[in-house]
Amino acid sequence: MIERLCIIGVGLIGGSLARALRAREYVGEIVGYGRTAANLYEAVRLGAIDGAETSVAAAVRDADMVVVAVPVRATREVLEQMRDALAPEAVVTDVGSVKLSVVADARAALGARFADFVPGHPIAGTERSGVAASTADLYAGRRVILTPEAETNDRALARARAMWAAAGAVVATMSAAEHDRVLAASSHLPHALAYALVDMIVRMDEHRAVFDCAGGGFRDFTRIAASDPTMWRDIFLANRSELLLLLEQYQEDLQVLMDAVERGDEEEIWEICARAKRARETLHDNEK
Ligand code: NAP
Repeated sequence: MIERLCIIGVGLIGGSLARALRAREYVGEIVGYGRTAANLYEAVRLGAIDGAETSVAAAVRDADMVVVAVPVRATREVLEQMRDALAPEAVVTDVGSVKLSVVADARAALGARFADFVPGHPIAGTERSGVAASTADLYAGRRVILTPEAETNDRALARARAMWAAAGAVVATMSAAEHDRVLAASSHLPHALAYALVDMIVRMDEHRAVFDCAGGGFRDFTRIAASDPTMWRDIFLANRSELLLLLEQYQEDLQVLMDAVERGDEEEIWEICARAKRARETLHDNEK
């Protein structure tokens, strides 16, 4: 059980965690921190939090669990603001989509309290943001990756693990470096491609007609380009080296496909499409 949970950034991810833990009666009181009163009122109205603070230090006071759920590059600042106000028994964790940069920021910001920090990332979400989009079942059956460091204390890790399990998630651990490599391919690259595609098309003279004639394929591929730009700017920059490696690889592979189309190379084009189809179908089996 968590007696007093503090959510720093009560949006889609933080709000959904609060609502999940409340629905499963795993938490006593929930206090939220945010910069804008309107969002905090909405969070109280939805029952995600019981009370709100607009100071990080005031929000974390007496909390036994603190969850940081702000855009990745805002992490360091909020950790610095909370360090001296944390209760001795408090565990701090985060939900950021990039882990090496968060770990470096937490190590610098938290000093000796870094041992009580558990880096985390729920692999769940939508293209919508804000507490109004939060739900109590967002994490049900979804994976949460924790990336403990050598200094992370066992009690803090166990408490973070238990919290996510209580929210309905399946918890896995890996290193922060592995997390960033894997997520660059499974999430950061697809988002970069979707943003670039929609941004390219919207600058075409016929873009109205393109959107009017868009079928399911276009909608599926571009849905994630409706995601929050601040969040994704932060992710692209925080994981820039892994993302750049993959963008270069993608450029090379796109060039191979372009060359095959230019040559009219039926066999090469078919091979590329068939390989991808086989892989996608295997992935689809795993998703079931
Ligand atoms: P969100 O719905 O926009 O919520 C972010 C919250 O952080 C807002 O309530 C906002 O409240 C607060 N905030 C924004 N900028 C801030 C700043 N500079 N300083 C302090 N507070 C700030 O975003 P989200 O989708 O929940 O994402 C939050 C985190 O979860 C991100 O780190 C993201 O990488 C990670 N994540 C997202 C997803 C996803 O699919 N969305 C999935 C997994 C992990 P105020 O504006 O009132 O301050």
